[in-house]
Amino acid sequence: MEYNIPRGTYDILPEASPARQALYARFLRLAEAFGYHEITTPVFEQAALFERSSGESSDVVQKEMYRFNDRKGRVFALRPEGTAPVVRSYLENRLDLKGENKLCYWGPMFRYDRPQAGRYRQFYQYGIEFIGSDHPYWDAEVISFLWVFFQSLGLKELRLELNSVGCPDCAATYETALRDYYRPHLDQLCPDCLKRFELKPRRLLDCKVPSCKAFAKDAPSQLDYLDQSCAEHFEQVKAFLNLMNVPFTINPGIVRGLDYYTNTAFELIYEGIGAQNSLAGGGRYNGLIEQMGGKSTPAIGFAGGIERLLLALEAEGISLADSPGPDLYVIAMGVEARDFIVHLINELRAGGISVVYDPEKTSFKAQLKAANSSRARFAAIIGEDELAAGQVMLKNLETGQQQAVKADALLQFLG
Ligand code: AMP
Repeated sequence: MEYNIPRGTYDILPEASPARQALYARFLRLAEAFGYHEITTPVFEQAALFERSSGESSDVVQKEMYRFNDRKGRVFALRPEGTAPVVRSYLENRLDLKGENKLCYWGPMFRYDRPQAGRYRQFYQYGIEFIGSDHPYWDAEVISFLWVFFQSLGLKELRLELNSVGCPDCAATYETALRDYYRPHLDQLCPDCLKRFELKPRRLLDCKVPSCKAFAKDAPSQLDYLDQSCAEHFEQVKAFLNLMNVPFTINPGIVRGLDYYTNTAFELIYEGIGAQNSLAGGGRYNGLIEQMGGKSTPAIGFAGGIERLLLALEAEGISLADSPGPDLYVIAMGVEARDFIVHLINELRAGGISVVYDPEKTSFKAQLKAANSSRARFAAIIGEDELAAGQVMLKNLETGQQQAVKADALLQFLG
């Protein structure tokens, strides 16, 4: 073979499709229950959309974005995340005027990162965005959506980690404290952390290098630097989460990778799927919409990864859907029945019944064998007698029971 799939991507093979479709359906159903409506944006956008919203110095923009020029030299990027495109569309389509402020999405994202288990260059995210209010109830509702979703799938080994990163004012005081803490240790930090120290000291807490991690452990906590209104907001989020029976642990280390987060930040951790153990994460982004040219509008959302969720489901032995067999396998004896069969199959398929028929198989034995291995529910046997009577001999392949059914009653019978 001359061609290979690009590194860090994967094919969704037919055997894997039913579980993903079931997950998508479950997500949409829950979104509906929470009052969210689906929005789908292009997989590429102006690169500047992400550069401005995520932050020029974020890892996503600096190292991970698939950036390209089109034939006219315009600079685009394959979307690395879903929030900025959703907000772009919200503003461009004036969804505020239509009262569409609870939006959900599902689709592929792209990041140039080192592939490993649970980390891909094209991966799928689902997410929700609530736009238009700073009330702490909405923070808790968004988080509880995620919690209820995972509970409804049957996942057990979950840990919800919660933090507040404050508003830009408390963030500034906190960053001063962080720099004061790290300054005496600069010679022991990794090169990336030296840049973080200058540009975004908060990201020092997110470094995965073991020696840097040791410093992060004892670093000052943002929670000690919240101003009164941010501290109150955080208290109320926690109170609503308690009311909603959503258990959480406080982790001041949750900083999230992108620049636009304010106040509530959270992550759902699942131990047991390797190093990439964050199933989903999100937070409040009160500054983003104004930064993107809209009027100042608070918002909050989350995004989760499908691949890691599927890994977690597999780790707990949870199967959402089996690849189903067809409803009917048609077994024809003799070529005389061909016209009758072709008509019948068309009619059944148009009525939503899945039918398998292979005109190249002629022996009864071979056809019955194929019917069984297809895992069809029924086989319709059509020989001379059936043809003359305008009926089929319907065999239930599970119980072995047979009965004659008129051709024109078959659709209703199988449906
Ligand atoms: P983020 O947008 O980085 O906050 O990621 C949100 C969620 O998307 C994570 O919790 C993961 O479940 C998933 N995710 C992020 N990056 C990747 C990746 N490269 N491959 C697979 N899943 C990812």
